[in-house]
Amino acid sequence: MDMRNITDPHRNLIDGEWVEGASVNENRNPANTDEVVGRYARASRDDARRAIAAARAAFPEWSRSGPQQRHDLLKAVSDRIAARADELGRLLAREEGKTLAEARGEVMRASQVFGFFAGETLRQTGDLVDSVRPGVEVTVQREALGVIGLITPWNFPIAIPAWKIAPALAYGNCVVLKPADLTPGCAWAIAEILAEAGVPKGVFNLVMGRGSEVGAEILENPEIDAVSFTGSVETGRMVAETCVARMKKVQLEMGGKNPLVVLDDADLDTAVDCALNGAFFSTGQRCTASSRLIVTEGIHDRFVTALTEKLEALKVGDPLDPATQIGPVVDEGQLEQNRRYVKIGREEGATLVCGGELIEGATPGHFMTPALFTNTTNEMRINREEIFGPVATVIKVADYDEALRVANDTGFGLSAGICTTSLGRASHFRRHAEAGMVMVNLPTAGVDYHTPFGGRKGSSYGPREQGQYAREFYTTVKTAYIKA
Ligand code: NAD
Repeated sequence: MDMRNITDPHRNLIDGEWVEGASVNENRNPANTDEVVGRYARASRDDARRAIAAARAAFPEWSRSGPQQRHDLLKAVSDRIAARADELGRLLAREEGKTLAEARGEVMRASQVFGFFAGETLRQTGDLVDSVRPGVEVTVQREALGVIGLITPWNFPIAIPAWKIAPALAYGNCVVLKPADLTPGCAWAIAEILAEAGVPKGVFNLVMGRGSEVGAEILENPEIDAVSFTGSVETGRMVAETCVARMKKVQLEMGGKNPLVVLDDADLDTAVDCALNGAFFSTGQRCTASSRLIVTEGIHDRFVTALTEKLEALKVGDPLDPATQIGPVVDEGQLEQNRRYVKIGREEGATLVCGGELIEGATPGHFMTPALFTNTTNEMRINREEIFGPVATVIKVADYDEALRVANDTGFGLSAGICTTSLGRASHFRRHAEAGMVMVNLPTAGVDYHTPFGGRKGSSYGPREQGQYAREFYTTVKTAYIKA
């Protein structure tokens, strides 16, 4: 593969070639909008069509490649990502704005995900059973689906592409990836690593570009068999409708309005740390962020005082500065949305205890102080709609029963947490929280890579991602009847 001249602008990878786009996307640093992190090609709809055709052409051979070849590719990708963790962590921090420590952690997560699915290629399972008809045997085996379109958001620009690409390739599918327009850098780096690791041409294609063009082609093109999407509820709903109308398999991971319940018997330090981390780290830009803190009366005031103290001490600033704890908001649009919700919260009668201010950094960036509302009710818009920024609310409740009811009174169902020292309450919450993931004495955000990820209600649709559960989406089952 010709690796010359692929980085100015960073080109798309289509059918094993680095291809120029129809236009160029200047990827800017949200901590310093004067700084261009890199120039990235923006694909046209035609480019997307060619990528899809290339993936289709590559599918027969790749789907018949043995587990060893797939294992070796994924293992090599895992190793190469880990070897470049510092450099890629810096790139991620510069294009998305999370702190260097968080960004490096996310890069390592991408490496671990590829490592996990390298192992999965060798864990071939199936059934051989006797038919109810004498002399006939039945096999049940999983096969690759075909060509998978992957559409990803900006907030985990390396981990989310990784946790979709790795299982897709592991189970013998070909891939067309469209990353978010705001964060093409990490997706491009994965494409480069896959190319260097020897992915056969057409098996993996990168088409950076707009949702309305490249994304739309992925959804509508009949050669795409399945779509895995992560992003907002609004786009997700449209993705599902478009795919279902065309009988494509579809998986959606969308928003959250995740509750963290804090009971009177909680360890205060644990509860405050869970809230601080879960609601505000990564600038609150996590689908699993604890945006609703549901706190019982007996601990409410102590909890609010302790959390406010910690919030006011948080250092907001340049993600590359090791002292920074909260990086910038990802872009102007998201910043406006956060500020709009701070205004809405005030208008709804909630008390803004701290934060919600724009602050000047050393460089022109989208810096906002973390905001905490008290005196809120679960009916307020700030408690019903996903804000996706460093904004959290406290809802005071009488007891555990009310806390559980409020926690479940939401259109979302991704993650739910509880801080308590009561095993009985923790167990009850684990069983009765209407969420795909439950955390006890842990932040609602922060998950493992070998266990299923996903939610209920408006948060998710279709099979789970990650771990062995990823197989449900990325394979199809074949039942064969054999008479000797
Ligand atoms: P978004 O919905 O705006 O965009 C997601 C992706 O869809 C992007 O690649 C975008 O270009 C593409 N897209 C946009 N319009 C499209 C169209 N018409 N056709 C096809 N594709 C289109 O979301 P975002 O702002 O990038 O990400 C933030 C959202 O993602 C938040 O709501 C957050 O909760 C959610 N999220 C969910 C999870 C999860 O696993 N549940 C994880 C991370 C982020």
